[in-house]
Amino acid sequence: MKPFITRVKAARIISPNKPLEICNMTLRTLNEFEVKIKVKAAGICHSDLHLFEGGYDAGDGTFLNVTDRGVKYPITPGHEIAGTVTDIGKSVTNIAIGDDVLVYPWIGCGVCYTCRNGDEQLCEFPRSIGVFQDGGYAEFVIIPHYKFLIKVSKLNLDEIASLACSGLTSFTSIQKAKVLPHHKLVILGVGGLGLMAVQLARSLTNSTIICIGRNNKKLSTAQQFGADYVINSTESNIESEIFSLNPTGVDCVIDFINSPSTATTSMKILKKCGKLILVGLFGGAMNLSLPTIPLRAITIEGAYTGSYNSLVHLIELAKRGVIKPLISKKYTLHEVNTAFDDIKNHKVIGRSVITPSS
Ligand SMILES: [Zn+2]
Ligand SMILES: [Zn+2]
Repeated sequence: MKPFITRVKAARIISPNKPLEICNMTLRTLNEFEVKIKVKAAGICHSDLHLFEGGYDAGDGTFLNVTDRGVKYPITPGHEIAGTVTDIGKSVTNIAIGDDVLVYPWIGCGVCYTCRNGDEQLCEFPRSIGVFQDGGYAEFVIIPHYKFLIKVSKLNLDEIASLACSGLTSFTSIQKAKVLPHHKLVILGVGGLGLMAVQLARSLTNSTIICIGRNNKKLSTAQQFGADYVINSTESNIESEIFSLNPTGVDCVIDFINSPSTATTSMKILKKCGKLILVGLFGGAMNLSLPTIPLRAITIEGAYTGSYNSLVHLIELAKRGVIKPLISKKYTLHEVNTAFDDIKNHKVIGRSVITPSS
């Protein structure tokens, strides 16, 4: 007979800016549509750091507290979750014990227009896993409905985990960029998202790709992934480099940093009818010359994660070898605070994962 409860270890944020603690949690029995997953890999995302810090700098002297958006501490972070199904509710279909799955964590209310339109990630009443409910920095996680799972058999779970947020966000930004082979695309920032965006842009758009970053090692990885040009912003002037390559500017900038200085630079290097896609959550504000937007017919758009179906498409691209997430570091659950420090100190190329089962 199966036990009704299970004691599992989880790394939790008890309150903002305090080291995460390893806690023993009790897992309840499953409701009819729920699925229990043994977490094999939980990607570490910058959003986890914002959860740890308690929010975002809004740039106007205010701080956007995550508690005002509905986050309740203590919370187990981790929204990039890949693992193996170990138990299922009695009405679960299409998912079986033993399946390797990736979790779509961007759960909304499920009934509003946005959710029914397939964009649960943009629901006004988010219930995202690892943000508003306990996530994957744990040995096991319960997913509220089997419809949020994607089977990923034969794929490397450490690599695939990062697709649920960082890969998906990169994919959405490339979809929104709508660049064509004759277009010039700037990818600003060569962290995990930027490097994934280079691979996607190379395969899906065949545009000219220019990567801007501060770290030569990461920039040379961007070149290996298909960037046509790279610019180190600590060694060269971005504007003069861009205008020497493209005298009228570029068609699109995807800003994975989105700081006051990167967004300001992005506006300057766009050509007429150019598009700026803001992705990063660095924080801050910028001065915008309002007449230039209509006069230059500029589009500014935000990109936030992506839909369930986009994640399905992304998994197919991974299965075909079109993209390969770069995982450079792995940590045990007990090393979670070191993992956060390494991200803060820019020690990670690509992405890192926590492997709670190791
Ligand atoms: Zn909704
Ligand atoms: Zn994330």
